[in-house]
Amino acid sequence: MNDKHNPLATHLHDIDYRDMVENSLDLIIKVNLSGHYTYVNPAFCALYGTTPQALLGRHYADDVVEEDRTMVDEFMSKLFTPPYTVSFTHRENTAQGVRRLEWTGKGLTNAAGELVEFVGIARDVTDRLDLIDKLAQQANHDDLTGLANRRFLMQQARLELARAIRYQYPLSLLMLDIDHFKKVNDQHGHLSGDMVLKQLGQELKVFLREHDLVGRIGGEEFVMLLPETSLDEATAIAERLRQSVEKLTLSILNEQAITITVSIGVASAMEEEQNLDNIWQTADERLYQAKTLGRNRVITAPAKSYPLFKP
Ligand code: GH3
Ligand code: MG
Ligand code: MG
Repeated sequence: MNDKHNPLATHLHDIDYRDMVENSLDLIIKVNLSGHYTYVNPAFCALYGTTPQALLGRHYADDVVEEDRTMVDEFMSKLFTPPYTVSFTHRENTAQGVRRLEWTGKGLTNAAGELVEFVGIARDVTDRLDLIDKLAQQANHDDLTGLANRRFLMQQARLELARAIRYQYPLSLLMLDIDHFKKVNDQHGHLSGDMVLKQLGQELKVFLREHDLVGRIGGEEFVMLLPETSLDEATAIAERLRQSVEKLTLSILNEQAITITVSIGVASAMEEEQNLDNIWQTADERLYQAKTLGRNRVITAPAKSYPLFKP
């Protein structure tokens, strides 16, 4: 230990160090240069529900969750070069199930400056990270339908648009609004209206391909973001979606069922200036046209604007 550099450390005896490490609620380990445990403190043993003897000689990678193994190996390899420090969080298989451990690791050198072993200190941050995940999920999703909310959808749309411009991919957007939804509420009550919104949300999900995202951006308005999708393809998807919604039987209160229709505006990043506000506005204008032309229809680019689009 580097007692010389910390004047307070001179007040500590070896026994104090041992007490601190052995009584620490944080996990403290030592690992040799080949990655095997040479010391594990009681807190670490408790996590595995076993004894120090059972853990000694095991390899640090033995209980790392499969998907995190490469990441952990990469971090551990950093310990072999100055400044011999690393910090990362990974998932570990323990006696208490999969736990997320936040590590700091340091390589220890001898008097000759040669690396001799590693010391690692970790804390189980599973509960904290789970809470963060839950809050992020709540912040990004709509409670009623579980779909993305407006803020998250727009954030993703900006990212996708930047990617589309960078790689010259098409990107399309569908804006969808339920026709005469007010009547559903008026005739069957708000609760039935909510049931309809939920079921439509489920149906929209059926149409999602791997990189698509759908969000509820307002009361009965939804946006579907379609990366790597031309205006042509998006229009075809919108039309299939419209037909499929028309055929849906939706359950409402008192074991009744109703049908609804939707109007859809389609816009694409390749059509005009590549700016999210413009694409959004174009989709919105086309949705409005669909409404004024009689609802239950898809409005997309006028044929003339097509030459601007290069697949
Ligand atoms: P249009 O065909 O022109 O779109 O007519 P509309 O009746 O669908 O449109 P309007 O904008 O007049 O009414 C939308 C209705 O959606 C009014 C509002 O009560 C209802 N709404 C908005 N959010 C919710 C919700 O979360 N739950 C329920 N049940 N209804 C909602
Ligand atoms: Mg409506
Ligand atoms: Mg509306």
